[in-house]
Amino acid sequence: MPASEFEIIHDYFERHGRGNRRDVILGIGDDGAILQPPADRQLVVAIDTLVEGVHFPVQTRPADIGWKSLAVNLSDLAAMGAEPAWFTLALTLPESSASWLQGFAGGLFELADHYGMQLVGGDTTRGPLTISIQVAGHVPAGKALRRTGAQAGDLIGVCGTIGDAMLGLSLRMDEQPLSLVSQDRLLDSLDRPQPRVKEGLWLRDLAHCAIDVSDGLLSDLGHMLAPAKLGAELDYANLPFSAAGWQLLQAAPERLAQLLDGGDDYALCFCLPPQRLAQLQDRFAETPDAVRIIGRVSDTAGIHCRDVHGKQWMLRASGYEHFR
Ligand code: ADP
Ligand code: MG
Repeated sequence: MPASEFEIIHDYFERHGRGNRRDVILGIGDDGAILQPPADRQLVVAIDTLVEGVHFPVQTRPADIGWKSLAVNLSDLAAMGAEPAWFTLALTLPESSASWLQGFAGGLFELADHYGMQLVGGDTTRGPLTISIQVAGHVPAGKALRRTGAQAGDLIGVCGTIGDAMLGLSLRMDEQPLSLVSQDRLLDSLDRPQPRVKEGLWLRDLAHCAIDVSDGLLSDLGHMLAPAKLGAELDYANLPFSAAGWQLLQAAPERLAQLLDGGDDYALCFCLPPQRLAQLQDRFAETPDAVRIIGRVSDTAGIHCRDVHGKQWMLRASGYEHFR
């Protein structure tokens, strides 16, 4: 017997006491949730939808879908420097399959519990598989990181690597035979992105601005710089690629643009006043590989890349855009 809407909520999403937060006055079960944000803090909210076949391949494991649906949203909170607290889930399912729901809820709550987040409500409907999660977190009043605020001369930094999720997707779709190192890691980057929450908190009072890289480094860096008519000079040798990315470039240097445009990595990109570099390094002292300075903000529009021999290219973004 397929479960009803209410059985689905009761069996998979109400956690019957587990994972409860004290600042949830009223959670799942009423017409709305009641939440108590800390005094002197501002709420930060974000929502992202994942559609089967668009945001994840049809064969993705349910547990990975659950993880990723929350991870992409946590990445937005990370980019604002917010502390995660609550989320709601709008779930549209083609059928009520117990094994699918069990897997999905398992992956979802694995990540939620890691960050102490509580699911406080949602909506359950029937239709093509679509997951919308809204997350909420908080920051000290006035202290959220935004996309705006970059200045010429700032250092450009990245937490995480770029291009791995794109390579993982190529592997999964068998689009081209890739004989790259660490294939499992690439697939993991696609299925289980790691939101950079801790890094976002570390950057909050240091960086001028930040963005999470969901649509490719060039396009998201452009979102921080282009509105201010600023550009970037990137150092080829410091680009934030993994061992697999560099291995690919050795064999096929023409795929640089593809790596820089690869979406779905959920790294953080930020602009840092150069005089704060030592403070940044201090904060990342125990995990120095978790952050990389890849170049500088310049006062002329456009993103350029320079190699050690002084050779320079102009890079153009073609990030993913749904209606193009
Ligand atoms: P309403 O009709 O008032 O919108 P629903 O019948 O849709 O309420 O939902 C009943 C309760 O279950 C509500 O508190 C709602 O927030 C919660 N809920 C529904 N679907 C989900 C879900 N997928 N995850 C978490 N909570 C859910
Ligand atoms: Mg409802």
